[in-house]
Amino acid sequence: MQAAKQPSKITVSDQGTLQVPDVPIIPFIEGDGIGQDIWPATRLVIDQSVQAAYGAERRIEWRELLVGEKGFHETGQWLSDEALETIRTHVVAIKGPMTTPVGSGIRSLNVAIRQKLDLYACVRPVAYIDPVPSPLKTPEKIDMVVFRENTEDLYAGIEWQAGSAEADQVIDFLNTRMGTALGPETGIGIKPISAVNTKRLVAMAIAYAIEHDRASVTLMHKGNIMKYTEGAFARWGYAVAAERFADRTITEAELWDRYDGRRPEGKVIIKDRIADMLFQQVLLRPDEFDVIATPNLNGDYISDALAAQVGGLGMAPGANIGDGCAVFEATHGTAPKYAGQDKVNPGSLILSGAMMLEHMGWHEAATALRKALQATIKDGLVTYDLARQMPGAKEVKCSAFAEAIVERL
Ligand code: NAD
Repeated sequence: MQAAKQPSKITVSDQGTLQVPDVPIIPFIEGDGIGQDIWPATRLVIDQSVQAAYGAERRIEWRELLVGEKGFHETGQWLSDEALETIRTHVVAIKGPMTTPVGSGIRSLNVAIRQKLDLYACVRPVAYIDPVPSPLKTPEKIDMVVFRENTEDLYAGIEWQAGSAEADQVIDFLNTRMGTALGPETGIGIKPISAVNTKRLVAMAIAYAIEHDRASVTLMHKGNIMKYTEGAFARWGYAVAAERFADRTITEAELWDRYDGRRPEGKVIIKDRIADMLFQQVLLRPDEFDVIATPNLNGDYISDALAAQVGGLGMAPGANIGDGCAVFEATHGTAPKYAGQDKVNPGSLILSGAMMLEHMGWHEAATALRKALQATIKDGLVTYDLARQMPGAKEVKCSAFAEAIVERL
């Protein structure tokens, strides 16, 4: 008889590729609020998808991390160094939503995790799952992946309240030394956008587009107004494409000048769009956009807007990815008024689980999961958020939705 396989850590090779054992140890954070509802549902679906794809050959050994409210109640810490170190050393982790602790001095646990682990890309795929209700006429044309810069821009938290000594000092410096004429009682926020952070984000987006045979990477920015931050983002984006991916990319101008508008096989088109115009174009001509790379604030807006086009936050998966490790997560919050009611949609976290399986190279399990999820929705079994928009659908609880997926694996 064969000995049972021992659980071990996922590692990263010198070339940066993931080495995934048959029984990887994957840390998870249940999350606060509805985390108690959506995490068990997600875990069941992931485990059963792996089982359906690989039988006894592979499985996941889960390791719980006490972070957030659970962490605070059991250990007195919202986010311990030990938990962060466990994520770092295990390379792949998954988490439910987390409350922002009021009065603890912590701005946001999610932001802290991203910053401490240098998870510089927030990756959000937005694809339509038929027949999820959508406000669009042709939602099946939406199949995009947003790469949002995660570490800087106005989200860096460099800001001062109007009337504070710090704000007044900055205003004084700007007015006396930099030629501005800012009035008193003005709040100040700083928008840092750097070459190094832009280039690594855009490089990750281009590498993804090449690997997944996507047609284009669109640099979304507001550089016509904010020339040295958003405008620089676009310029550095084109620069990194030329420096690192010259043989695999062409610009939109080259597409027309040299290829008569027809994309040569194997090439990714690099283009840019002004942010406000892109909001229109993803509605009117969604099939023209594939991968979108953008600074932090634009990325926050566009990913929620796109999520609404394909079924709302309950169906929007996401991941925070850096060079060392990746954390997959529900993109919505803790929805406290529904916590513990076994009511909400676990789709966001389940689809984040599918992204995680793909990231690990377990494509068969990810495909099985997606097909079973789609079959469940096609059969009209959905949670309340989708049921109220789908005539004839049967509203089921969060756990029953997960069980229905498992039955269809
Ligand atoms: P939220 O996303 O928690 O909830 C807003 C509304 O969206 C809910 O009332 C509900 O109607 C709907 N919703 C959310 N998730 C759903 C699901 N899975 N199924 C069906 N409907 C769903 O946003 P909020 O109320 O602004 O934030 C609550 C808390 O969550 C705050 O403490 C906030 O800081 C935190 N938060 C955490 C994350 C994260 O962990 N990534 C993200 C956003 C907000």
